[in-house]
Amino acid sequence: MLYRLHNAGYEAYLVGGAVRDLLLGHRPKDFDIATDAKPEEVKQLFRNCRLIGRRFRLAHVFFGREIIEVATFRGGEPTESSDHQSDEGMILRDNVYGTLEEDALRRDFTVNALYYNIADFSIVDYWGGIADLEKGLLRLLGDPETRYREDPVRMLRAARFAAKLDFEIEEETAKPIYELGGLLDGVPDARLFDEILKLLMAGQAHVSFRILQKYKLLSHLFPQTAAAIEGEFAERTAQMLNQGLLNTDHRIAKEMPVTPAFLFAVMLWEPVRAQAEINRDDKGMPAILAIQRAASKVLSSQAQVIPIHKRYAIMMNEIWSLQPRFLNRRGKRPNRLFANQRFRAAYDFLLLRAQCGEIEQEVAQWWTDYQVDHPDAHKHQPNTRTRRQRRRPRNSRGKTRNP
Ligand code: ATP
Ligand code: MG
Repeated sequence: MLYRLHNAGYEAYLVGGAVRDLLLGHRPKDFDIATDAKPEEVKQLFRNCRLIGRRFRLAHVFFGREIIEVATFRGGEPTESSDHQSDEGMILRDNVYGTLEEDALRRDFTVNALYYNIADFSIVDYWGGIADLEKGLLRLLGDPETRYREDPVRMLRAARFAAKLDFEIEEETAKPIYELGGLLDGVPDARLFDEILKLLMAGQAHVSFRILQKYKLLSHLFPQTAAAIEGEFAERTAQMLNQGLLNTDHRIAKEMPVTPAFLFAVMLWEPVRAQAEINRDDKGMPAILAIQRAASKVLSSQAQVIPIHKRYAIMMNEIWSLQPRFLNRRGKRPNRLFANQRFRAAYDFLLLRAQCGEIEQEVAQWWTDYQVDHPDAHKHQPNTRTRRQRRRPRNSRGKTRNP
């Protein structure tokens, strides 16, 4: 793509994370290209190209499942670089094209502002990005506080890159973060949630989480978790979190499937557990109902800050609600629990609880042994979808389908 742009007479650079990662010997996650060709001109060069974005037009070029993003150099004041934000006043002036140098000014960290020039195979480095790369430093361009105010997500990006690259956040870049966490409240939920997923699902969840804690960002993202870590059961809460985060990183390293729902379930467990205890002891609710009520309270409180996507919330509820059932090991109950489609996740969750001493180790061991003794049990269970169940009409209980 770089050659095609170059041969058509345009400037063409590989930029951003791909250059950074290649120089560090890592495999880039995605590739971004910067060029002086206008989006319409890019479209003429690549058949498999789509233009996206209304405020700032970008070209996406598709290669199977890969998307290469081609952006025309951006200009204008760097303070307008909060491109994802909904500051209406900025809309008109946002779509300003610029020069390579202006484009470089709008990037976040020096190590993200390196351009690989296909014309002469050189690296363009206006900001000392190479030197910072060698020192392992994340340094924001410009005045850090101003840059965080323009776009508070840069604080999370700092945490993410520090964890992923094993870099230090340079002192001036780090200092304002302690104070500015509150700015995250103004970031649209969807963007924040995306960024949190990137932070937790990139294989460095454990370190990332530490960094969030260190810079006092956690309380702005997961206030109930932050409180639990300092609450009555601080030690075991921290232990469960650590272990849960490490397990996720470990699974990602081994390319095993992971779901953020499990991590979120771990992060919000102590608040749910504590509330469920109140529901049970003070209000006399049965164990499972107590958990379900607690879960909905904790999730709606979390939603005030960052709502967790519905499909994850459903799975979290399932993992939590199955926990009391592990204690009930009489008769056919274990078989039925084993057949539940969330058994595996709920069992992994149970192991964490046992590891941090919240429940008896014996319970976890019993379930571990149970699975060894019943390798096929789940295949014969009534809970798995059988033909008979699927054919049973929905209005079998006398309800009409379209009342
Ligand atoms: P990775 O893709 O590995 O997560 P990346 O550095 O490529 O890391 P992207 O989100 O893909 O991150 O962004 C590509 C480039 O766009 C960045 O390297 C940076 O130069 C610029 N950029 C992205 N987000 C911002 C931002 N919030 N503020 C300023 N520049 C940004
Ligand atoms: Mg990238």
